[in-house]
Amino acid sequence: MGSVLTANIKLTAYGIDKEIKMNTKLTDEILEHLWVLREKGSKSYNELVNDMKDGDIHNAILKMEKAGLITLTNDSIELSAKGETRARDLTRRHRLAERLFYDVFEAEMEEAEYTACEVEHILSPAVTDSVCSFLGHPPTCPHGKAIPKGECCFKYSREVKPLVSQLNDLEVGSAARIVFITLHKDKSSGLQRLASMGIVPGSIIKLKQKAPAFVLEIDETTLAIDSPIAKEIYVKRLGFADKKG
Ligand SMILES: [Zn+2]
Ligand SMILES: [Zn+2]
Repeated sequence: MGSVLTANIKLTAYGIDKEIKMNTKLTDEILEHLWVLREKGSKSYNELVNDMKDGDIHNAILKMEKAGLITLTNDSIELSAKGETRARDLTRRHRLAERLFYDVFEAEMEEAEYTACEVEHILSPAVTDSVCSFLGHPPTCPHGKAIPKGECCFKYSREVKPLVSQLNDLEVGSAARIVFITLHKDKSSGLQRLASMGIVPGSIIKLKQKAPAFVLEIDETTLAIDSPIAKEIYVKRLGFADKKG
């Protein structure tokens, strides 16, 4: 918060022959918040200012407009194409970092969010794609918000061996620990049903069968789930179980 990271952005491309000093951290926070507002269907200038509560925000917004990151009309504020690219990258890094710290490193949610806010400014594109691959290209953050996809999500690279993968990619006979479940909050009854069967993050499962339904074993109990649900369950492999069972 409030650290003075400044960048000099040459505006010759816009015909303005001077440098604008921009607080890049505040700029990034504004871009990211504009992305969140757009997800809610809002482009209200006032809503942005009220949410951000930063004394310097009006000034920062004017500089961002000059730098071509946003467009302002009446009381609405929107991302330009250039601003959208940056906002998308920031949101992607933030939400992937939340998955990493909350689900894999098991930090408290507050700490995971705080750390995500810091690392979103510094992760390089290559590292971001590695984190994404490592986590099995998760579609959502722990809050259930969409993680914008990166190149890695489309080209399905095997360069980074995923630590986490979808249950349906697990081989029959393997054991794994559940890391996170991406079932949407709308389907909370589905989550409760899974929880009642012991299918929660941290549980150790053995995969017995994949078709026609997924058959798992948890604590000596055998359970069956449908394959669309198996895609929502992300697991970390523990190695092969013995083949007897
Ligand atoms: Zn989140
Ligand atoms: Zn990916």
